[in-house]
Amino acid sequence: MPARENGAITNLSSSSDTLINLDHGDPIVFESFWKKMGEKCSVVISGSQSLSYFANTKNLCWFLEPELEEEIRRLHRVVGNAAAEDHYVVVGTGSTQLVQAVLFALCSSASGETPPEPVSVVAAAPYYSCYPEVTDFLSSKLYKWGGDAQSFDKKGPYIEFVTSPNNPDGSIRESIIVKKRGEEEGKVVHDLAYYWPHYTPITSPARFDIMLFTVSKCTGHAGSRIGWALVKDKYVATRMTKFIEVNTIGVSKESQLRASKILGAISDGSLQSSSNNFFEYGRLLMEERWEKLRQVVGRSNIFSLPKYPQEHCLFTGKLSETHAAFAWMKHNMATEDLEKLLRGKKILSRSGSRFGSDQSYVRLSMLGREDEFKLFLERLTAIQ
Ligand code: PMP
Repeated sequence: MPARENGAITNLSSSSDTLINLDHGDPIVFESFWKKMGEKCSVVISGSQSLSYFANTKNLCWFLEPELEEEIRRLHRVVGNAAAEDHYVVVGTGSTQLVQAVLFALCSSASGETPPEPVSVVAAAPYYSCYPEVTDFLSSKLYKWGGDAQSFDKKGPYIEFVTSPNNPDGSIRESIIVKKRGEEEGKVVHDLAYYWPHYTPITSPARFDIMLFTVSKCTGHAGSRIGWALVKDKYVATRMTKFIEVNTIGVSKESQLRASKILGAISDGSLQSSSNNFFEYGRLLMEERWEKLRQVVGRSNIFSLPKYPQEHCLFTGKLSETHAAFAWMKHNMATEDLEKLLRGKKILSRSGSRFGSDQSYVRLSMLGREDEFKLFLERLTAIQ
């Protein structure tokens, strides 16, 4: 069992002027685990190593380091969160690059023809705020943001992003449009960035055609910028690889080697019931933060938080609930602008309006530093 952080405010001044930034989901919370691992996860790369653009010319994804592919597949087997046997692995510079690669792959043709009109890209609100931003960033002729999947009724092709557990609200989701219309016209991309046992019970291995994962939210190494896609269809995997070839001519070898070391360490640690078990360590940290936040929110009638069901986790063998990476907090007065109210208390959050929801909601990162989280709870307690 990990040593619980004692919560002392160490680096952060507790003065009322200190700005607490809970807008971004920067995953610093797991830093204490990696400090504890010391040199075990260090990677040394010599000057003569990894000069080539290529990693394995025989692989469809020719810039994917073989050892990273091996560790990705092993980790999914150990955790049991995705069935990857029939899938190609495509590595990306974060899953943000893979989101763009998948849009390109699903909407473009090899001959370069553009569709008669841009393909609609949708997600059920509240949706991850980067999907509309990334989709419309370059005003592509291939695809265009189509808004909330729940109210989407346009005929013709579409792509639906299904994020599960969902960013921002932690809910477990499935495709909305496929349920309504069947599968003919549309493609579904499952973004499973948070389908790991420190955030949510693993109830079955995911078996979807396109699944996105990221080291950022799995291990906390967001700075390495490594994500991966598990893709069933060879053509789609080839087109995603093509996108990354044109966009960045592959993905940093140094980052891939570091990520494979880190993923290998958490697979090894998961097989031991010791303090080296990263997911158990992370789960207890997240559980502790959620407990504290629920206590503070529960003391007043001003705010509310989502409730999550208890599920049996196949990885831990225990009954547990989701401890989401973000708190989707609501002001109980529907007309309140909660982001503004918190900003007045020097707490930065992301407004519900950025997620296709309304301003009475905010998304707050649960992944920041302990001293920052503690100060946030103190300030939230003071709002009565
Ligand atoms: N998908 C979801 C649902 C996310 O929350 C994030 C990170 N906020 C990403 C993708 C992108 O992650 P990265 O680019 O760091 O791999």
